[in-house]
Order: sequence, then C-alpha cells, then structure tokens
Amino acid sequence: EAKRTGRARYVVFDPAMRSQVSNSVALENDLRDALAQREMSVVYQPLVDLPGYGLAGMEALVRWHHPVRGAVSPVDFIPLAESCGLIAALGQFVLQEACQAFEKMQRVLGPEAPPSVSVNLSRAQLREPGLVDAVRDALRLANMEPFQLVLEVTESLAAQDALVQSTLQDLRAMGIALSLDDFGTGYSSLACLHELPVHSVKIDRSFVNLLDKSEYHRVLIEATLRVAATLKLGTVAEGIETEAQALQMAAMGCQKAQGYWIAKPLPVNELVSWIQARAIRSGIRE
Ligand code: C2E
Ligand code: MG
Ligand code: MG
Ligand code: MG
Repeated sequence: EAKRTGRARYVVFDPAMRSQVSNSVALENDLRDALAQREMSVVYQPLVDLPGYGLAGMEALVRWHHPVRGAVSPVDFIPLAESCGLIAALGQFVLQEACQAFEKMQRVLGPEAPPSVSVNLSRAQLREPGLVDAVRDALRLANMEPFQLVLEVTESLAAQDALVQSTLQDLRAMGIALSLDDFGTGYSSLACLHELPVHSVKIDRSFVNLLDKSEYHRVLIEATLRVAATLKLGTVAEGIETEAQALQMAAMGCQKAQGYWIAKPLPVNELVSWIQARAIRSGIRE
C-alpha cells in the first residue's frame, strides 16, 4: 500500500515525521477527553512589586496531567487545542478556575489576597465569538470586578486582524486590564507599542535570562522600560531566577517581577500557604 503511493511519500513523511504525526493525533484524541476526565488543572504563580516584593497579583497557568505521559506542557497542547477546536472549552475552564481561585483567596486571605489574577489568551481564543460573554460569566460567577482580571495576550495584537482588535476593545471597555506577554520575542516591537490597546508589558524571560550576559539585551530591556514609562504602561519582568536579576530589574525601574526565585507556579492551596507564611515572616500578623 505504502509502496504504491510512490517514493514521494517517503520523502514527505520520513519515519520520524510519521511517528510525530501519529503521536500528535493520539495526543489530540486524549485532549478531547482530558477536560471531562478532570486531567486539567490550574496553578498560580505570584507576581510581586519591585523593589519591596509586596504581592502584586498571580498568573493562572494550565496543567495537563496525562494518565500515561505524565505532565504535558501547555507549550505543546495549547497549539493542539487551537487546531482541533478545543481551545474555547479549555479557555473557559481556565477562566472559571482562575476566577474561582481568586474569589477563594479573597475569602481566605482578606486584604492579603492577590489584588488580581492574570489569565493567558491565545490568538485563537481572541477570535472565538463567545469569548467576551465567557469572560463576563466567569467574573459574575466569582463576584469579581473587571479590574481584578488581567488578560495576557501576545504579539497577535499587532497583527492586522479586525476581529481580534474589536474583541480587545470590548474587553478594555468592560474595564479589564490587558497585558502584552512575551515582549521581546516574535514581532512585538518598541515602535508599535503605542498603538496597542494594552495597560502593561511583560518582558519575556529569554531577555531577563540574558540580562547579565548580554549588553544588547540589557540595553533593550532598559529601552523597553523607558518607552513603557513614557506611555504610562505597567512593566513586569518574568522568569526572575536570581536575586541579582530582581535587583537589577528594580534598579532599572521595572515595576513588577515574577519567577522561580520568588515562587514557582503552585496549586491554589499551596499559594495560600505561601502567602500566609510570608505575611508572618514580614510581621504583618504580629
Ligand atoms: P507565559 O504566559 O509566558 O508563562 C510563563 C511561563 O514561564 C510559564 O510556563 C511559567 O511556569 C514559566 N516560568 C515562570 N517563571 C519562570 C522562571 O523563573 N524560570 C523558568 N524557566 N520558567 C519560568 P508554562 O506554565 O509552562 O506555560 C508556558 C506557556 O504556555 C505560557 O507562557 C503561555 O503562553 C501558555 N499557557 C499556559 N497556560 C495557558 C492557558 O491557560 N491558556 C493559554 N492560552 N496559554 C497558556
Ligand atoms: Mg503569560
Ligand atoms: Mg510570559
Ligand atoms: Mg513566555
């Protein structure tokens, strides 16, 4: 059978590629059941203010615990969910989980709770007709004010896409904050920052990583922070892995930080404990 289709087939699909393709088909089938099987969960990574390290928010990050493969990275399954039409359901799950986690933390922690929760939206989600309603529902279910939700979007913003643009305008008009994620990668550029409807910029961790190794990256981060300040945009450094990076970002005027040095993404109960332990250490509860 394979032979009859001719040699070209072997050129297009070498064995490695074939197993990759069937691999992703298998993964796609598993993904269809993952939500119903409760294999998806959401973890939360805190954001802190610089230079004082006060709690400034938390970012919701989805996790898939596959019964056989173990943890599958969102970097691998989000694009798959987008291409097979599952992203709306998955996105709605994350939104609702995140808003409920936010509500729970307000209840348990009171004034020590994170002031906002950030949720990532991929480009395909921004093209879903039901997105704005899903956001409104999630907020209402959790008794949240729009300003307590931050939506993180990537350079897809910069694309000439009328549908995405109008969705972003709708979300903004509702009072939700938008944050430009992964700044420094892709096609995001300083030149068009002023055209984007965002409230803050997250400097990608690949830049933060190179802060003390590459003069070019340090200068670019400095320039980004200066342009953001001029445009009155908030600034967040992601991927802070050392105290030196935190101090350097603070010295350059970056407003917030997120990264393993502060805390890894944690299940909601563990983040509650982390916040409580910190509050005790810093004497808030004396
Ligand atoms: P992102 O939004 O830029 O999230 C930051 C990623 O960096 C997360 O990876 C986080 O765990 C990781 N990270 C944070 N601090 C550090 C650090 O100090 N060092 C290192 N090495 N990594 C750090 P994660 O959770 O694997 O997510 C990867 C990407 O997948 C996210 O990048 C986001 O683009 C996407 N993603 C995750 N959850 C969702 C979701 O619910 N919806 C959508 N649409 N995309 C999501
Ligand atoms: Mg993000
Ligand atoms: Mg990011
Ligand atoms: Mg990133």
